[in-house]
Amino acid sequence: MIKKLKLRNFNHSSEILKLLKTTGYENLGLVPTMGSLHKGHLKLIEKCSLNCDKTIVSIFVNPTQFSNKIDFANYPQSIRKDVETIRKTNPSAIIYTPSESDLYTAPAKAEIFDLDGVDKLIEGKHRKGHFQGVATIVKRLFEKFSPDYAFFGEKDYQQILVIKKLIKKYKLKVKIETIPTVREKNGLAMSSRNILLDKESRFDAKIIYESLCIVKRMVTKSGFDKIKDFINKLFLFNEHFNLEYFYIAESCSLKELESFNPKIKIRAFICVKVQGVRLIDNIALN
Ligand code: AMP
Repeated sequence: MIKKLKLRNFNHSSEILKLLKTTGYENLGLVPTMGSLHKGHLKLIEKCSLNCDKTIVSIFVNPTQFSNKIDFANYPQSIRKDVETIRKTNPSAIIYTPSESDLYTAPAKAEIFDLDGVDKLIEGKHRKGHFQGVATIVKRLFEKFSPDYAFFGEKDYQQILVIKKLIKKYKLKVKIETIPTVREKNGLAMSSRNILLDKESRFDAKIIYESLCIVKRMVTKSGFDKIKDFINKLFLFNEHFNLEYFYIAESCSLKELESFNPKIKIRAFICVKVQGVRLIDNIALN
């Protein structure tokens, strides 16, 4: 009888390093996540598995990127289900589910990085210290496993720029691969937080992506003031949706822009609160 191989997740990076040493590999890919996996995460794991002969998926809700304790406490977690889901996507993926002590000495604290201000704009303006926490955890994962590639989603477009800046400034060796935002049927960007919404709000939250699509259609014809006014009014009339921010910014620097210039690549960024849940999205405008 063939003994069923018991695949497990690893709580200690040392166990993974040992495994990597014994099995060997050509290209190691890392997919950092905070778990509660959805199809967006699975696309990243698929891309990593196609491009690399070894894939590590990390699942860790990183405390240092949350400035709001309630938000951290309420962040959805489903490690068992996540492990099963990853196994179905890539049965040989190495799943890293560390405890806080494998990554931080207590109390967990973010390091301070000079990221030339890219961490201070847009989302960074509204979640103070968020990207320092992100940079801390991602740098630690890079240093632990020395992946050749790491995979990130455009859903968190600013995060990609922050990580690229981190890599450049601290001369890290890893290469970054990205995927477009994966959306629910109604257009809402998939997010682990979506399960915190009731059915009606989750459906109605399609307005976020719809508004971005309208902005995309307006951008060459209307001034940015008019566009911002349209967005402000749209959410003002929707009492269940609170607009936290809307920005139009240069794609490469995230600097806010006042008017359209066809020579400059731009994106729109939005954050809306629904039932106390913060939802972010972004779109390329040209
Ligand atoms: P998170 O678990 O939210 O920290 O996300 C882990 C990774 O998945 C990050 O690189 C995210 O940008 C990416 N991701 C999250 N949601 C989506 C989505 N809807 N489409 C594509 N990538 C996503």
